Amino acid sequence: MKVNPSEVCSAYIQKQVKVNTNKNINRMTVKSADIFQHKFPNTNLGFCKGFTKGLMKTKLIIEQHIHGCFGVDFNKAGVNDLLSVSQELLPRGIGGFFPTLVTDSIDNLKRQIGVINEAAQKQSGACAKILGIHLEGNFINPEKKGIHNPKHFLELTKENYSKLDDDFIKIVTLAPELDINLIDYLKTKNVKVQAGHCTGGDLSKCDGVTHLFNAMSGISHRGNSTSVSALVNDNLYTEVIADGVHLSDDILNLTFRTKPEDKIILISDALPVTHSNIKETYFADEKIYYDGVKATSKDGTLAGSTTLVPDIVKILGQKNMFKPKYVENVYDYHKLDIDGSIEWDNNFNIISVSTKYKP
Ligand SMILES: [Zn+2]
Repeated sequence: MKVNPSEVCSAYIQKQVKVNTNKNINRMTVKSADIFQHKFPNTNLGFCKGFTKGLMKTKLIIEQHIHGCFGVDFNKAGVNDLLSVSQELLPRGIGGFFPTLVTDSIDNLKRQIGVINEAAQKQSGACAKILGIHLEGNFINPEKKGIHNPKHFLELTKENYSKLDDDFIKIVTLAPELDINLIDYLKTKNVKVQAGHCTGGDLSKCDGVTHLFNAMSGISHRGNSTSVSALVNDNLYTEVIADGVHLSDDILNLTFRTKPEDKIILISDALPVTHSNIKETYFADEKIYYDGVKATSKDGTLAGSTTLVPDIVKILGQKNMFKPKYVENVYDYHKLDIDGSIEWDNNFNIISVSTKYKP
């Protein structure tokens, strides 16, 4: 079936379907009487292949670590950019996201925190909901800086954090081994503290770990290691970039065998070039080159992924390594709920995305 890609976002099929009632009253729950199916915008990925009966159903995807996509950089975006990204994400199965800010000047971060807040307030109807901000920056270890610009790094103090403090910041990635008095303060605000871009092995004050194995000390049989602590501590949630580029299949196997199934969170760490035609751009003050598979700085440092989590589900699924819990644990982590579901075919293509929102 041929479909004009410019039409598919706005096209929809209405269906009157009974809704699963969510009984967990402690959660931020959206309920609905009707469910609408959103057409997947990429006609190569299944939706238009003939409505094969779905073999797997999952909740909507929540992206808790995403720097941008479709050419939009959340460190630079305007309110309308965020609104348009959120509308594009929903038909791809993404029901919510935490725009993630990379290390930047305090002025730029404050501006973008304001922009994201404003965009979240203006959202309505069929779009991926902006659920909060993930701050991945400024409080990390220069030894594991990755693509981040160390010029903006700050000591991990409550006083430094107060320069950009905002209630919409829900996740902070930081280097726990450098903490002075920041983690205790973040705890008082119920901000999720995630160890990342770090070397320390004491993760006792952390809720989770940011992109396990990437930009942290790796497996070692002596001394401190963030990765080893993350693997053996059953209470810690671990973000995983399973895009086929950031982690080998052996490491994924090790992670999935070691961690409790309910502590894995698939993330994309998507860069602004994701799902765009951009081959070169600036991200985190660094020139980034995208070769169609991976995006790196000139010296080859990986800058983030060029996939979205639904793409990663397909990559993992085809390796027989995917479990629905890996995209559903994020709901428990943040104690939230979004009504809606995704149906996938046997090749892990999205067949349909159902929500209460009329496209
Ligand atoms: Zn990131």
